Amino acid sequence: MVELLFLCIYGFAVITFCIAFSIAQKGLRKSRIDLLCFLLAISSGWWSLFFGLVLKQTDQNVAFWMRRIGMIGVFAFVICSTYMMVYWSDIRGRMRRYVTGFAWLGAPLYPFTVLKGNTTFEMTTYGMSYRMNSGIWSTAYTVYYIVAALNMLMLVIHLLRRSIRRREKVMAYNLITCIAIVVLGSILDTVMPLVGLAAFPGSTIGQFIGMMALYQTYLFYKKSQMNIENMSQFVYYSVDEPVFLFDEAERLCIVNNGATVFLEMSAEECCKMRLNEIFELNRDVFRFQGGKNRVEACCIQNHNICSVSIDKIYDDYQDIIGYIVIVHDITERVHMMEKLDQERQRADKANEAKGVFLANMSHEIRTPINAVMGMNEMIIRECEDNEILEYAQNIRDASKTLLALINDILDFSKIESGMMEVVEEAYSLKAMLKALEKECSMRAEAKGLAFKFVVPEDTPNVLLGDEVRVRQVLLNILTNAIKYTLKGGVTMTLSYEKRENKRLWLTFAVTDTGIGIKEENIGRLFDKFDRVNEEEIHAIEGSGLGLSIVDRLMKLMHGTVKVESEFGKGSTFTVALEQKIIEDQPIGSLQEEKKTPGERVRYMPQFIAPDIKVLVVDDNKVNLTVVKGLLRKTQMQITCVLSGRECLEAVRREAYHIILLDYMMPEMDGAETLEQLKTMPDNRSKDAAVIVLTANAMAGMKELYLEQGFDAYISKPIDGTALEQLLMEYIPQEYLTKKAVRS
Ligand code: ADP
Repeated sequence: MVELLFLCIYGFAVITFCIAFSIAQKGLRKSRIDLLCFLLAISSGWWSLFFGLVLKQTDQNVAFWMRRIGMIGVFAFVICSTYMMVYWSDIRGRMRRYVTGFAWLGAPLYPFTVLKGNTTFEMTTYGMSYRMNSGIWSTAYTVYYIVAALNMLMLVIHLLRRSIRRREKVMAYNLITCIAIVVLGSILDTVMPLVGLAAFPGSTIGQFIGMMALYQTYLFYKKSQMNIENMSQFVYYSVDEPVFLFDEAERLCIVNNGATVFLEMSAEECCKMRLNEIFELNRDVFRFQGGKNRVEACCIQNHNICSVSIDKIYDDYQDIIGYIVIVHDITERVHMMEKLDQERQRADKANEAKGVFLANMSHEIRTPINAVMGMNEMIIRECEDNEILEYAQNIRDASKTLLALINDILDFSKIESGMMEVVEEAYSLKAMLKALEKECSMRAEAKGLAFKFVVPEDTPNVLLGDEVRVRQVLLNILTNAIKYTLKGGVTMTLSYEKRENKRLWLTFAVTDTGIGIKEENIGRLFDKFDRVNEEEIHAIEGSGLGLSIVDRLMKLMHGTVKVESEFGKGSTFTVALEQKIIEDQPIGSLQEEKKTPGERVRYMPQFIAPDIKVLVVDDNKVNLTVVKGLLRKTQMQITCVLSGRECLEAVRREAYHIILLDYMMPEMDGAETLEQLKTMPDNRSKDAAVIVLTANAMAGMKELYLEQGFDAYISKPIDGTALEQLLMEYIPQEYLTKKAVRS
């Protein structure tokens, strides 16, 4: 009996110490209640251990000492449980001070309650027992014990009264049960000896049961608190995404609600499956380097497309204990992406079609204009009748306008589709400005306007930039200034600022004394197809594209364009951009001796080279006639053929110096013909310069042709002067028998 009782109580001590150990392992600093529960378990274990040892003793003296030590656990138990009740009841102020203060009374009471005369030990059927002798300290101890129990009861009643949640009520009832058990137990060994009966270690048993009940309450309380352990539980079950936990052997052991909903199976059914039975994945999916593996896979159960992320879970020793698999259903996203991709492909195709259409249009429109302008040029060169000459001049002006319009539309489309690129090359600012001045002054003169370029003579001349685009911007603004000025004049003033690293900030201000722009319209100027001041300009031709092209080109070149205007008085358009200085040599004066206005410029060839053999290849007979006619006065020997194949035959027979090759031809196009020319062994014109002659003048084509291996490029409609100038570059000096003289 004694052995059994001792073993039992000894077992209580072990259990409570284990509980204390497990609480300590989770960390005592996290919350006060953890520390309290830990101390309570220690004191309970202490109580059980030493009161258990009392039972085993045969020597009363040793038993007395065992009890004396064990009583420390009793008082500590009372203090800790009081503090736990205070914590849960959340009582404050005076009441709290009284309850805790009273519990601490146990400390000074302890030495007196364990005085030798207070207890008498005797051997009973359940081992060494004791009874408390009546006296002041025994009574004080009993009163302390009862009042402490009543205090705790009061705290619990307080908790019960203020509790609004069910879990608090449950806790309060649990605590009442604890107190009742401890009090009942203590009656057996505290009260029984008082009435002269041997003390049965009921309080030791009672406190253990009470301790266990308190521990349960503590666990219950912790469960309803937010902490990292139960947080993960809440999260695990509340997330909608399917979550699967696999053990080390890759067996599915836990699934969340999201997973059961996703698979439309019960948790038990899910847990019978392996990952490769749920998703189309191979078995090796768990073998990966690093902590995470993310794969896309189709779910076998519902055919949804999922992003499956697999994380390894490690123990404290960095060994894998399992895997957490989180699944994102991306079916909708994938379908959306597919749709977008299809749309993109369709848009790309449409864009491609647009590109092809524009190239074709460019070709189709330029070919007849080439004929009109070329034939017209021949009339101008050869006709002596002034009236007919005037008609021809008008045709030339109208053709130029038509051509400018087509160029604008093509350039604009190119900018819109993001295909316009800035190509930087070294160029002469002087040459560009002179060409501009020549072109614009003629137009201004024709309208009776004064026209002037003010350029500082020390401006650096050789610059790096996209000459074609800078020229296009300035030409657009100058043409507008002339177009929208009825009397007065147009002046372009250049100013510059040298910056570090050989950078040059150029500012071109074009001022006119024209119709001006109303203030409210200035904001709309750069909008595409928008023409402002409709009333004033309805008689002036225009597409409303010029300034929007200027704006976009300036953006591409990282420059700026600004407008200041006074309606009825005139406008100033200022464009500023940066170019790099290649050579600092000054530009000098732009002025040249002026020709008498109205004097007709009679055509003279720029060179004469009768020994030069030129082969012209074009599928369009009229084009061939135009080229032949334009070059007639140079006296070169010109052979015309109508296809790439004929071209190859011609070069087998004859050694030409220059080949003018059309690009867009049926059967064998320019590129293919060039390829053959370069590779055929019996080509007698291997050294000939091959110049591509094309009606496709889309921006950026020049670079493409040069990349393909052509020596140079000239676009249709062919400008006779430009053609002669270009050819001169490829004719050796010794063949030039005569240089042209202009009258
Ligand atoms: P458009 O082909 O009509 O000239 P732009 O884009 O070049 O198209 O110009 C847009 C509008 O801006 C013109 O229609 C005109 O109303 C106005 N504009 C442009 N330059 C001037 C100027 N120098 N003076 C007055 N109005 C101008």
